[in-house]
Amino acid sequence: MKGMMMQRPLLISEILEYGAEAYPTAEVVSVRTEGDIHRETFPELRDRAAQTAHALRAEGIESGDRVATLAWNGHRHLELYYAISGIGAVCHTINPRLSAEQLLYIVSHAEDRLLFLDTTFVPVIAAVRDQLPEDMRFVIMTDRAHMPDTPFPALCYEELLEHQPTAIDWPEFPEETAAGLCYTSGTTGNPKGALYSHRSTVLHAMMIGLMQSHSFQEGRKVLPVVPLFHVNAWGLPYSALLCGLSLVMPGPALDGPSLFKLMDDEGVYSAWGVPTVWQGLLAEIKAQGRMPREFADVVVGGSAAPRSMIEAFESRGATVGHAWGMTEMSPVGSHGALPAYLADAPFEEQMAAKAKQGRRCFGVDFKIVNEDGQRQPHDGKAVGELFVRGNTVVSGYFRNEEATEAAMDSEGWFGTGDVASIDPKGFLVIQDRAKDLIKSGGEWISSIDLENAAMAHPAIASCAAIGVAHPKWDERPILVAVAAGEARPTLEEMHDHLSEHFAKWQLPDDLLWVEALPLTATGKVSKLTLRKQLAEYEHPELRVLAE
Ligand code: AMP
Repeated sequence: MKGMMMQRPLLISEILEYGAEAYPTAEVVSVRTEGDIHRETFPELRDRAAQTAHALRAEGIESGDRVATLAWNGHRHLELYYAISGIGAVCHTINPRLSAEQLLYIVSHAEDRLLFLDTTFVPVIAAVRDQLPEDMRFVIMTDRAHMPDTPFPALCYEELLEHQPTAIDWPEFPEETAAGLCYTSGTTGNPKGALYSHRSTVLHAMMIGLMQSHSFQEGRKVLPVVPLFHVNAWGLPYSALLCGLSLVMPGPALDGPSLFKLMDDEGVYSAWGVPTVWQGLLAEIKAQGRMPREFADVVVGGSAAPRSMIEAFESRGATVGHAWGMTEMSPVGSHGALPAYLADAPFEEQMAAKAKQGRRCFGVDFKIVNEDGQRQPHDGKAVGELFVRGNTVVSGYFRNEEATEAAMDSEGWFGTGDVASIDPKGFLVIQDRAKDLIKSGGEWISSIDLENAAMAHPAIASCAAIGVAHPKWDERPILVAVAAGEARPTLEEMHDHLSEHFAKWQLPDDLLWVEALPLTATGKVSKLTLRKQLAEYEHPELRVLAE
């Protein structure tokens, strides 16, 4: 027997209308490429999104068309988010840190015909203009006074909006309709597209609100350092409007001092980003000897947050949520809120729990599977590939059957490529990306574990553990590190530091100091690039043999 309840489509335009009505004084505060700080209330955001929607239609954009953006976090980008999906078109966010080759690939794969870009990215487009489709049109996201000289014809965002009405009847369509498109940064092969629907986006936004129930209180301010150009800034552009949090958009300057100043000036309560961003902010916090005003909540994910980083925030009074997810999951899959049963536990015990990747969010199922495809118990010991299932997980890749087939198992679960264990209380521990695990003498060493432990050494600012070829052991771990100051501990000193947590055979065979680690387009350490940089590297034992 079916229930007798209405079934209304879950549409993104509903979020915008709700946010504007329920929280009329909440704001979007944006650091703009023009150099100023712009403020608009949620009702003003709705009005301008409506104008943008009319402008898109005037440019011939119809339901299902892909409209690309190449932009920082700012109000115009947010207006586009709501306007594009609101009329049933698809907002294709492009990561400006992709190589020219990847950018050309995804624009052609997505069949974008209209591209909105920040002034900053004019040179990026100028460099590839003659390889882009001839009928492609460009809109620069600024006003007439700030329009740059472009070597290609371009429209002006504010002029497009100027005479458009601020009222709109958002169309109604099925909730499965595509709303957003984001390509994975593709460390191997071509980038693959995750095509989010209205339904998945709305459900994800509600999920984020739930997982942050301890911090998402109406009237507070949230800062997405995570970019709108990658996986919808972890859903914040939507959940902030659901929960009544003002959005503080940082624009292009994501260094520690700029973030500190913005957070301090605006009184940001909650800030979200990858560990590399928080390293910069923590350095500034240490330099100033204080936290930014009001700052009390950090969400970190995208790669493993070292325990030392979590402790650095927590010991200064900010709660850290260590989340895990991926582009294919909208992206959040787990949340790092402290369980109630640990509320009175000693600091050490709380930190040990926070260093794990949290518990699954409602609506996301986990299973771990061994190399033979057998399901493993959630006993905290068994390790295997993590598979996920849920309403916010992709059912395949956009126009890519081969990649879809490779990623989905016969029961319809998505293979994450992460190797993990899950303990009886539901805590996820990501051991590694399958391809980053180091296999020495038939035994696995987690590069994440090594990195986390090494990062606790005061001389190390950041580091990466990678496997290098070894004739006897197949692979041996080495540590590549960036120094925090003048001190450069020796390999033996590093062994002393690590040996509390690791067996002797798990300790790195070498310690290399570098100025900086290569980063991926999403701000994570790029082990692929690092391996390429170290292509000529020889294990110390091989060097001895060669001499
Ligand atoms: P992306 O699709 O670029 O968001 O990357 C997703 C991948 O980042 C995951 O499959 C993990 O390998 C990694 N990742 C994300 N969050 C975490 C985390 N908290 N700890 C460890 N790895 C993470």
